[in-house]
This record gives sequence, structure tokens and C-alpha cells, in this order.
Amino acid sequence: MKIAVVGTGYVGLVAGACLAETGNDVVCADIDAGKIDRLNRGEIPIYEPGLEPMVERNLREGRLSFTTDVAAAVREAEVIFIAVGTPPGEDGSADLQHVLAVAETVGRNMPADGPEKIVITKSTVPVGTANKVRAAIRRHTDRPFHVCSNPEFLKEGAAVQDFMKPDRVVVGVESEHARARLAELYAPFVRQGNPILFMDIASAEITKYAANAMLATRISFMNTIAHLCEAVGADVGLVRQGIGTDDRIGPAFLYAGIGYGGSCFPKDVKALVHTLRETGVDPAILEGVEKVNAQQKKVLLERVTERYGEDLSGRTFAVWGLSFKPETDDMREAPSLDVVRGLVSAGARVRAHDPEARHEATRHFADLLAEGGLTLCEHNYDCLDGADALLVLTEWHAYRTPDFERIRTGLREPLVFDGRNLWDPARMAETGFEYVSIGRTPAAPAVAA
Ligand code: NAD
Repeated sequence: MKIAVVGTGYVGLVAGACLAETGNDVVCADIDAGKIDRLNRGEIPIYEPGLEPMVERNLREGRLSFTTDVAAAVREAEVIFIAVGTPPGEDGSADLQHVLAVAETVGRNMPADGPEKIVITKSTVPVGTANKVRAAIRRHTDRPFHVCSNPEFLKEGAAVQDFMKPDRVVVGVESEHARARLAELYAPFVRQGNPILFMDIASAEITKYAANAMLATRISFMNTIAHLCEAVGADVGLVRQGIGTDDRIGPAFLYAGIGYGGSCFPKDVKALVHTLRETGVDPAILEGVEKVNAQQKKVLLERVTERYGEDLSGRTFAVWGLSFKPETDDMREAPSLDVVRGLVSAGARVRAHDPEARHEATRHFADLLAEGGLTLCEHNYDCLDGADALLVLTEWHAYRTPDFERIRTGLREPLVFDGRNLWDPARMAETGFEYVSIGRTPAAPAVAA
């Protein structure tokens, strides 16, 4: 099929590459000329395992191309994916200006003949957006076309794998034609019996927000249980195992930590709260989720100031991990933004490492780097020299089995604030570390996760 993917970010680039991989003729279009230049030179602007060779192969074999000419891309394509950003507006609602700008472009570039176009929102958009997309296209054309909702569930860090082998594909359609074409398009991705769930468009739009809000709720729920565990000397790792083995609950997204971040959960929970309010549904449960998360992002900083006082002048802290989760360079809404800024504004200096987010860090922390409050280190052990304590903010694999002796000798004191519960409190205590983690007491038994 001839496909245009508009928006070449985490979602659009992965979707475009994977659709080309299954034999389609794909043009990825973006208004960011710098990004398109880099892609045309074979450079991948994001870190995503498996993406680079796939893009390179499909570029070379002529199934994938990149352009800034959005109009030409949508004019030529039968299937158009809208995968542009939907950032939060001032009131928390999803800002649809980019999505609707693409819809207008599609309407203005509807050829007089050729196959009926299928326009698909892949961006995360609130219920009712397909109607707005349809109206924006209709303003410019009388030709028949089809609007669909096909929310994306890929996880950054495993995006290619998730797109190639999705748990399910959700498609909101309103015509038999669109349903048949999308069934054909997605057939190679569901060969192992994972379903394509066709439904009405509103249900598909709501499904995406419901999924992210549910996952965010599990995280905030476990962070609340972590506080209870700390208050009474219990261990949240054991509670997690105790409930996660229940078939009705399952083990995923039950890890206590320093809160959720990233480009999706924070903005999607906010947008769903806004939609609930607008439709007169009480958003209490999600307001609670947001409140817990905002507090949780401050927890590690509070532990540090409880230990050293509010004024951290003259102190240096080593930080391991800046991305919002492992296997991605994405730092949008990462807890590290709050923690590092909090430490520096209390007077401390920070020496930080991240295996992949170094480039993103130079963008997010340009001011701190210029003022000297923050230094980015090449190697994780380089951060330790002369630091008062180590803070772990992201659970990268490379941090899981470190050389504890090197940590101990590098730090001024053997003190670790672990925001991701990477290590065993009993072992840390045995090896002489003062070890502060989330929802676990230092004396917890060695079986703790
Ligand atoms: P992103 O910010 O990485 O990329 C968006 C791209 O759209 C940018 O390259 C931008 O230049 C481009 N763009 C903006 N306006 C444009 C226009 N008018 N024409 C052409 N290009 C335009 O965003 P992302 O993370 O890929 O997310 C895209 C959408 O997918 C969002 O709605 C997001 O909520 C959703 N989503 C994201 C993820 C994720 O893990 N990142 C997962 C599922 C769904």
C-alpha cells in the first residue's frame, strides 16, 4: 500500500519503518527540516533498540523515504497516518493544533481521482477528535474519504518489537472499506493470533487513555503502599510479589519508585481528567493518581534534605540515570528533571551519567551545564569521585550489578539513595552502605526484590 506517516517522532518513525519492513511503500513526512535531513543521511535522531538497521535497510531498498513536503506525501498516499505530537494545553487538555493542521493539509491535497483515502489518527487524541479531523478535511473537498482511530501502544525502549508483535491492534472504523484495508495492512503483525480489535471510533479513542491511566494508577497505587510499608517497617517488594502472583492482578507496573514520567502518562492522565470533567464525570480517582505522582517525584530529594538539611551548598551528588525509564534517551517529564534541579537549586553540585540520554540532557539542562551546577560524566563511576552520596534515578541494566567496592571508595561516605530499588537492602547493609530506597527498610531480609 502507499502510505504517508505524518510526524516522524518516536511513534511515526517506528510505525513508518515497521510498515515499510512488511513491504509497503512508506513516506515519512515532518515539518522539522533538521530531523528529515538527518534521517535522509541515515542518522536516527532517537535511541530505540533495533530501529537503526530497520530504517537503514528500508531506505536502501527504496520502500522508505523522508520528506518535509507533507502536502506531496499525503497527496500521493492511499493510507495516511497522523502521528504528530499532542502536548498538553494550558488547561491540561490535549492540544490538537498539529493534528488538525495535518487534517487541513490532507483536505487541501485531495486528488480528483484515485483510491479513497483512509486517514488514521495514531496520535493519542481525546474522544471526539476523529469528528474534528473529518470536519477539517471536509472543509476543502467533496471527495469521499475514511477517518479511523488507531491508537498506538508501543513502549519506548521496546518500540520496534511492540509494533512488530503488538499484544493487540485497536482500530476504530466507521466503514467496511476502511476495516478491510486496515485488516490487510495489519495482517503481517498479527500472525500469531494476537487480535485486531475493530470497534467504533469513540471507543478506540477512549481505549488509549484508559490503558495509560490504568498503568499510571497502578504505579501511584504501589507508591502509596510503599509509604505504608516504610511507616510500619514492611517491604513493598514482598507485597508486590504477594499481589502480582494473583492472576486477577498480574505482575506488571507494580514497582514502587520515584514516580512515572515520559511523554505519555503525565499528559494523558491530565487530558483524561480534562475530558472527564468536560463530560461531567467525576475524575477523583485520576486526580489522586496525579497528586501521588507529583509527591513521589519529590521523595528522593526530601530524603536527601532530611539527611543534610535544606542548604546543600558545598555538597556534591552523583546521579545514575536521567532518562525517564531504561532503554530510551527520552527525558520528557523524567523524575530526574525535578531531582537534579532540586539538588542544584538547594546549592549542591551534581555529577550525572546516563548511558543514552546524554544528548537529551544537554538540551534539558542547558542552563545548569552552563552555570556549572551539573556535569555530565562519560562513565557511571566517574560521577562518584568526591561525591557525598549516590542517587539512582533510572533502572538501567548497566547499573544492576555494579562494582560496589568502587562505589564505596569513590564516594566520600558509603551512602546511596536508590529511587528504583535496584539493590538488596540486606546486602547493602552487610557491605557497609547506608542505603535509602523506596518502601523498604534497611533491615529488610535478603529475599527482598
Ligand atoms: P514526538 O514529539 O517525538 O514527534 C512528533 C513529530 O511530529 C515531531 O517530529 C514534529 O516535528 C512533528 N510535527 C508536528 N507538527 C507537524 C505537522 N503539522 N506536520 C508534520 N509533522 C509535524 O512525538 P511522539 O512521542 O512520536 O508522539 C506522537 C503521538 O503519539 C502523541 O500523540 C503521543 O501521545 C502518541 N504516543 C506516543 C508514544 C511514545 O511512547 N512516545 C506511544 C504511544 C502514543
